[in-house]
Amino acid sequence: MNDSRSSDMQSPQAVAGRLQQVQRRIDDACSRSGRSPADVAIIAITKRKSVDYVLAGVEAGLRHFGENRVEEASAKIPDVRARTPVPLTWHMVGHVQSRKAADVLGLFELVHSLDSLKLAQRFSRLAQEQGKTLDVLVQVNVSGEDTKSGLEAAHWSQRNAVRAALWQQMEQILALSGLRVRGLMTMAPIVDDMEQTRPLFAGLAALRDALAQSLGVPLPELSMGMTDDYPVAIEEGATMVRIGRAIFGERD
Ligand SMILES: *Cc1c(COP(=O)(O)O)cnc(C)c1O
Repeated sequence: MNDSRSSDMQSPQAVAGRLQQVQRRIDDACSRSGRSPADVAIIAITKRKSVDYVLAGVEAGLRHFGENRVEEASAKIPDVRARTPVPLTWHMVGHVQSRKAADVLGLFELVHSLDSLKLAQRFSRLAQEQGKTLDVLVQVNVSGEDTKSGLEAAHWSQRNAVRAALWQQMEQILALSGLRVRGLMTMAPIVDDMEQTRPLFAGLAALRDALAQSLGVPLPELSMGMTDDYPVAIEEGATMVRIGRAIFGERD
């Protein structure tokens, strides 16, 4: 797909057409893997895109939107809410600093990026103070890249120490009040060929199955796949794909 043919490809008017192409690729990935497109939610990532892009997405039928920075979201989300009556679900997908956790609780319905026990404890305390329950996904680092946040999970199936530490942290997170752990999230490394991401996505699905079985909790959601690799992520079981550029065009 050519993303930069002309300036009109970058405008909010292009969103509906781009979304149709994405939906077609999702449908194809689902038929290849015997899944239903109804089981794959598009989380439209609007970071560094104006409210006009969000509203164009709403117009095109999108209902789930994601941001990765609290500062940007705390301006954008209320602005969007003031400009459309359509109920939307907001997803936080970026690293949350402890001192921003309270803002996150007020702005977002689902946090994909719960990446440490410490942050989980902070959300738990805040949620209980406010009488709320926060839906979260636990972010895990299955690639082993130093730059990726998340609970350490590289080679968890072969390395007992990794597995033990991961299981212990998951148990502690699951025991916290005020949080509802809905599943796992991961970020794949940037690669030339999306096929290279398949083992990581398959690994996240296997980790989810193992955790759900041995800890006795349902972990239905798998948030994995972005513009460059969402078809493969869907074939490997993604229930949420986080797509920015394929829908909204390149970011400035
Ligand atoms: C930006 C971002 C995305 C979307 O990336 P695209 O490549 O634009 O689809 C997904 N997940 C996270 C955590 C992001 O920060």
